[in-house]
Amino acid sequence: MSDNPIFAIAERAARLRADGVDVVTLAAGEPQAATTRLVIDAAVAAAQDPDAHHYGPAQGEPALRVAIAEHLSAETAARWREDQIQVTLGAKHALHLAVQAVGRPRDEVLVARPGWPGHCAAVEAAGMVPVPVPTDSGFRFAVAGLDAARTSRTRALIISSPGNPAGAVHDQALLQSIAEWAAFHDIWVISDDIYAAFDYTGRHRSILAVAPEHRERVVVVGSVSKEHAMTGWRIGWLAAPEPVISAARRHVAQTITHVPTVPQRAAIAALGDSGTPRRAAVAYRARRDRLAAALNTVDGIDAPAPDGGMFVFVDARDYMATHGFATSAELANRLLEIAHVAVVPGEAFDAPGHLRLCFAVDDDTLDTAITRLMTALSSAARARIEGPTL
Ligand code: PLP
Repeated sequence: MSDNPIFAIAERAARLRADGVDVVTLAAGEPQAATTRLVIDAAVAAAQDPDAHHYGPAQGEPALRVAIAEHLSAETAARWREDQIQVTLGAKHALHLAVQAVGRPRDEVLVARPGWPGHCAAVEAAGMVPVPVPTDSGFRFAVAGLDAARTSRTRALIISSPGNPAGAVHDQALLQSIAEWAAFHDIWVISDDIYAAFDYTGRHRSILAVAPEHRERVVVVGSVSKEHAMTGWRIGWLAAPEPVISAARRHVAQTITHVPTVPQRAAIAALGDSGTPRRAAVAYRARRDRLAAALNTVDGIDAPAPDGGMFVFVDARDYMATHGFATSAELANRLLEIAHVAVVPGEAFDAPGHLRLCFAVDDDTLDTAITRLMTALSSAARARIEGPTL
């Protein structure tokens, strides 16, 4: 059994499925949709092109870097050139390369708490020390909190807006003050922008768009994973000043040689298609509203509709206290056993008492999950199914 609560619940769900149980999962950290035909066709064409069968540049295919530079120039309101981009094996690899390039072993990197555990993992894999910084009630950083966590070894801050698990979008004034604080203390900002297209406020801006004057200390990380339903293709990037790109390129050359060419060609097609992420955001927004509204009808459950991202992050502490659940892992396990719905317990994000539910699923899956969860969580059904606790 995995120590990681995300994988642990996935393993339990897989075991139930193997026993023939019809499990519905809102636990995944990825869109349920398949990758588009356009992207698949580009991959097939690439696989048939002998040029794609041999070694390529460590920094990534020039045409993909041009496409990423254009995408980022629009996103960040800063001009990017292809030589300022490193292609990576997804955003996770980009994060690891970024922290490694800006710090040295035992340096400290500030990360959000609650936050996506991959940020800590990327820092630890580079021999550095992640320092979790408690976020405010809206799951945003506050400058005072960052400053309280800062030491002489603080080298970088990782910010993700919209983020995972709570989808918080940092407003422009806050991003401006974070950028100024970081520049004043010579701290790098690593901006993990992988959920940028899933902004339901219309107000999301990249930190670089807000504070372009601090560009020399900013690394932008992204990928096609979530926005184009391409988590398995493993294409991401980092965009940064020259010394960071050189360090990342050296690391890639010395370890994996380069990112495979066929998925890089597929990612070029994805970046040429702005309609897919736009349509996904419209659908996700409606599903977010349905899921949050249903959950909020349950006494003791607080399910704010997130500003962005793919998850409703539920505060279940009152519900747990009323019904005798000691941990959200216990509650998640019961929901899996009784309702056959997989959700991720908050322990995975250093947020006990919470549950993360992914709404990047199709309408039928969401409807089934909502019906089952309502039955399992509502007191009437609780008494019927299990006695007093669920
Ligand atoms: N950053 C955040 C905030 C994430 O939630 C995830 C995946 O869940 C990643 C990065 C990893 O993205 P990729 O699949 O492109 O490596």
